[in-house]
Order: sequence, then C-alpha cells, then structure tokens
Amino acid sequence: MITQFRAKRAFTATVSVAVLSCLCIPARAQSPQRRPRVVVIGVNGMEWDIIRPLLVKGEMPNLAGAIQRGVYGKMRTLSSPNCPKVYTTFATSTAPEENGITGFVVGGVSANTAMLKREPLWSILSQHGITVGLANVPATFPTLPVNGYMVSGMLTRGKGCENGILCSPRLSEVIGGDPVYPATMAAELKANVGDFWIDCARMPLASELKGKEAQTVEEWLKQISEIRAQQVTLFEYLLTHHPTDFTMFVQSCEDRVGHWLYPIQPYNVGYNPNLHTLRVDAFPAQYRAFDQVLGRILQHLDSNTYVFIISDHGIKPLREFEESRLSRYMAHDHGGTTPVIAKHDFEDGDDVPGSFIAMGPNIKKDVRLMGFAVTVFDVAPTILSLYGIPIPNQMRGRVLKEIFEEPAPTTPLRPTKK
Ligand SMILES: [Zn+2]
Repeated sequence: MITQFRAKRAFTATVSVAVLSCLCIPARAQSPQRRPRVVVIGVNGMEWDIIRPLLVKGEMPNLAGAIQRGVYGKMRTLSSPNCPKVYTTFATSTAPEENGITGFVVGGVSANTAMLKREPLWSILSQHGITVGLANVPATFPTLPVNGYMVSGMLTRGKGCENGILCSPRLSEVIGGDPVYPATMAAELKANVGDFWIDCARMPLASELKGKEAQTVEEWLKQISEIRAQQVTLFEYLLTHHPTDFTMFVQSCEDRVGHWLYPIQPYNVGYNPNLHTLRVDAFPAQYRAFDQVLGRILQHLDSNTYVFIISDHGIKPLREFEESRLSRYMAHDHGGTTPVIAKHDFEDGDDVPGSFIAMGPNIKKDVRLMGFAVTVFDVAPTILSLYGIPIPNQMRGRVLKEIFEEPAPTTPLRPTKK
C-alpha cells in the first residue's frame, strides 16, 4: 500500500508540474491549430458475432461508415479479460500485474486510481501540454488531475455499491472521491446535463427476476435506455462546451445487457425459457443504439479528427465443458446473483477478442486488419505518436505504423524506443 500511495503522489505531482510547464514544450506542439485532434470511443464488450450481421443489414450505418473510411479488425485482449484490467492496459500499455489494476477487486478493495502504479495516457498527454477530456472511462475513480477534465465511469463508488460490484450511483450519490475533475465542474454538469448516472445499471438479482421476469426485464431495459440518453447528452455537452485535443468517451451498457440477455438457444448453458424468450433482440438493440450515439459524436468532428473505436473484449455464451457448475458463472463482479448466460473472462482471451476501428486524415481506408495484428497494448503508443510524443519505457505495445498511409506533415510519427 505504501508503494501505491507513493506512486499516486508522485504521479499527481508530475501532472501538476507538467501543466505548469506547458510553455516549455516545442512551438510546433504548442500551436493549437496544428495539434491533432483524437477522439477515442470505447465500447465495453463489443461482440463481432452480433455486430457483423447488423453491419450487413445496414443497421449500424455509422460504424459501417467508419469501417469504410478506416482500418478495422479484431484486437488481441488479455487473458481472462474484464473492463478495469483492459481499460487500464489501454491507458498504460502495461500488463495488469505491472500497473496494479488486476481486476474489479484488488486486495479486497474495489479497483481505484490510488492503486495505479504506471502513468496513464492522459497524464502523459497532459505533461506535453495536450488538452485532455475523459468521460465514463472505466477505473478512473477517483478522478486524477489532467490538463482538461475527467468524469469517472465504471467502478465509481457510491450509494448502494458493495466492494467490487458494479453499481450506478448518480453524480450526487458518489462517495469516497471526486467523480469530476476539476471538482468545480460537477455543478456545471449537474446544471446542464442533470444528475446523471455515472455507470450502467447493475443487473437484477435472481430473486428480483423469479416469477416476474417480463416486468423486470422491461423495467431494466428502460433504465438502460435512460442511462444511454443521459450519456449522449453528457458527451455532446462536453464536445460543444469543452472541446479538447484528446477526448475519450466510453459506453458500458452493451456488455451489461449481453451478460444476462445474450440471445442464446435452448442448447446453450443456462437457458431458461421464462427469461430467454422474452427479449431476444435486446442485445443486438444495444449495438443499434450505440451506432446512434456514434453518429451523434461524429457530427461534432471534422475529417481531420482521428477517431478510434475500441472495445476491451467480446462476449460469448457460457461453455459447460470448461466449468461444470453453473454457479461458477455467476458474475459477482457485475451484479451478484444475476443468472449470467454469457461472459468474457475466458482464460484464452483470443476467444473473446476486442475490436479496433480507426479513421483519420492519413489512416488507410477500408482495410481489414487480419488476425491479431493489433493488441490492447498498442492503443496508447499509437496515440502518443500522433502528437509526436516519445513512447515511455513503461509501454509494452508498439506504434501501429501499418495503419497509416504515410506520416502527415503536421503529425510526425516518431520511432518508438523499442
Ligand atoms: Zn462484463
């Protein structure tokens, strides 16, 4: 704990110094009009098996457009992937064992930013004078100082949150740290966006479902729609009133829906006709809704913006042959006793790959990345390279040079140290 505490203090001090030292960085990087704009849109548990048919049927037009205008493919994730592990790897390009966030719970306590032992991307960008804005990125609670703003996401603690279990406090219900940096911005967001839910809703308990499946499913899905609507309002407010060089927004409800409403068949593990015949379209509907969110975000961006759409992992129905007792599948991290029928923490992460879609001024067009060319470690180094920032030694990934046509004159790709 002492090491972790020191790490956080050192990191916070570094950021403060960095923000003050903006004037010391090269003129080219200082010039606002020549700085690249990068927007990262994260989706928890985007599953290619579900989105491919939607793309074919024209039901995800905005994602299809991004694919046509960019590069796309699977992304190799971690072993037994989950959101806090993978999003911290996105941010630090280090393994969970190195960066300190090894799961939802670390040492009996919900994962939080005080445990972070490696510098995240947004801290490094801040040190180089890049303005940074984040909203709803998992495992960013309590928020840390950046050269811009941060609104926390999954694993924010508050009313009704047990250790490690996902919950959905409203902005005013957060306990144990600031959900917004700078803290003074919380009142502005509450006034203009509302007292929004910070994360997606926790899944219903088995006891809440039994005998009243239809009613519970409908009510829960209604709240999911409200949460997504609030998120879009938040994202659009931030893009309009707080534009930043680097922006990252994350959606979590897709994964949450998939865990217990994946459209499984009677031959799948955990099939319950009382539940799994009710809303077989609920999970695909999440991706159609995400596509609408994507469209709203893209309306704020021009063709010179680099857009990365990334997912930490996919999600698949349970497999009986890997674990014999259904009770082992209960997702205690996600919602307690919810009858889970799909998951992503398979030991072989290649069974549930993430997604990687990128488009921008000098990114190749309509190119599929075959196999596992991209890994979750490569996101941060590639973004740093767009700003001409050297890749820190801590980073295990590489710059994805192959996705670019050629280095654009205003966005030099510097060689990595590795
Ligand atoms: Zn999940």
